[in-house]
Amino acid sequence: MISSEKFDAIVVGGGVAGLFYSRLVAEKGFSVALVEMKPLKKIGEKVCGDAISREYFKKLGLKEPSGDEVEGVVKGIRVIAPDEKHSLLVKGEGFELNRKAFGQRLLHEALSRGVLLYDNSYAKRPIIGNGKVEGVLIHDGRTGVNRVLEGKIIVDASGIAGVLRNKLPSNWWVSEKLDYKDVSVAYREIRVLSTKIEEPEYLRIYLSPLIAPGGYWWFFPKGKSKVNVGLGIQGGMGYPNPVEQFGKYILTRDIFKNSKLIHAGGGIVPTRRPLKSLVYSNFIAIGDAAFTANPLHGGGIGSSLISAWAAAKASIDALSEGVISTKTLWKTNKIYIMNYGAKQASLDLLRMFLQKLSEEELTLIIKKKIVSEDELLEISSTGDLRATIMNKIISAIKFLSKPSLLLKLKTLASLMDKVKKHYYSYPEDPKDLAKWELRLKEIYGEFKIKFGYC
Ligand SMILES: Cc1cc2nc3c(=O)[nH]c(=O)nc-3n(C[C@H](O)[C@H](O)[C@H](O)COP(=O)(O)OP(=O)(O)OC[C@H]3O[C@@H](n4cnc5c(N)ncnc54)[C@H](O)[C@@H]3O)c2cc1C
Repeated sequence: MISSEKFDAIVVGGGVAGLFYSRLVAEKGFSVALVEMKPLKKIGEKVCGDAISREYFKKLGLKEPSGDEVEGVVKGIRVIAPDEKHSLLVKGEGFELNRKAFGQRLLHEALSRGVLLYDNSYAKRPIIGNGKVEGVLIHDGRTGVNRVLEGKIIVDASGIAGVLRNKLPSNWWVSEKLDYKDVSVAYREIRVLSTKIEEPEYLRIYLSPLIAPGGYWWFFPKGKSKVNVGLGIQGGMGYPNPVEQFGKYILTRDIFKNSKLIHAGGGIVPTRRPLKSLVYSNFIAIGDAAFTANPLHGGGIGSSLISAWAAAKASIDALSEGVISTKTLWKTNKIYIMNYGAKQASLDLLRMFLQKLSEEELTLIIKKKIVSEDELLEISSTGDLRATIMNKIISAIKFLSKPSLLLKLKTLASLMDKVKKHYYSYPEDPKDLAKWELRLKEIYGEFKIKFGYC
């Protein structure tokens, strides 16, 4: 039997993006249905590194994690060279979350604002008609029936699966396909160690083309003896299996002797620029479904929240105005790009560049502090490499052993600057998107020619 219900917004996916969006729209008095395939009690569970910077909470007006949501308080990240002898310490406060407790808090904030939750329920497909998504066909796991939910705005927050987005007509801007080379295939375990962790307030990122080609492996302490340890490897043909690499190069280390496994799991993170538009007609994609994770390190909790916040602002205005269209929802793109997307595109080029460097070159960058600790912080928070590199060229003496690397970095810095500026000139009007995209492709083309990336 199929029955039908109507809402201002329907959200598919109760991860951080879907939960935060639902709450923000519902608290303005609009009706929101949230469809999540997990049962209520498991909402929030996610295979993740669980690290988030403190900065997002203030920016988004979201209460900072506290109590059982926090498993570790972070003071910074140690980035370790492939030789494991040299490192850079990047300062920055944050949290090692208990993901489930954090998700449950976001869920309760959403439910208390009136969001109607269809948990244990599976979104099967979008219902398309009259140039828009009129509704979503779901299997309501609580009653065992298929049901159509009709919505003025439809939001895909289903993570990397993009369960609605991937079933839309190919000429809709949001249905852009994900290239497997632009993902990180990740595996992580949570373990209790038999020894105390040194510097438990610092996350560790190990750069190693041997262990984690095209990515890195991490050691994120959750207090004094518990750790989230894993690795992410670039997707695509010819890359090794992360579980095998983990067993061979990470778990064999002394520190894991007699440790106890608490949880193991894998996942995929998009590591590229965001979708060219998060919006089409009355449809919006947010979070991993819109490729919002940071291309450099795959962190996507904070940027998923930013995309949800941007989409909620646009949705509230459009629902208040009573006109739902690409044009009225367009500010989702503008807000997201200004707050994260422009930097994300710039870091996408840096990510592709780093993926081509050898162990020797990565070690040299860290050993010689070609990019210093403060500069690394600056790059990861703004996407600006330019000033850093220009200063280095003036005092190039110390890099004479590898002048070609410095020249490559100079070219990279200029392209990162170019792509970021291009994002800052993102069109005001949707009709100008095609022209903007053409220029974006030219900048990527220039990058690929200069660095032999295909
Ligand atoms: C191994 C790993 C380590 C990571 N480490 C970090 C880190 O340390 N810090 C960080 O910031 N980010 C990290 N990330 C990335 C981060 O976890 C994601 O970017 C973020 O959780 C995305 O949130 P989301 O809400 O967009 O998607 P998700 O959290 O994936 O939520 C999507 C939801 O949609 C639901 N869903 C899917 N299909 C359907 C359907 N058909 N019907 C109904 N519901 C459906 C799912 O059950 C899920 O609850 C990591 C990711 C991985 C895989």
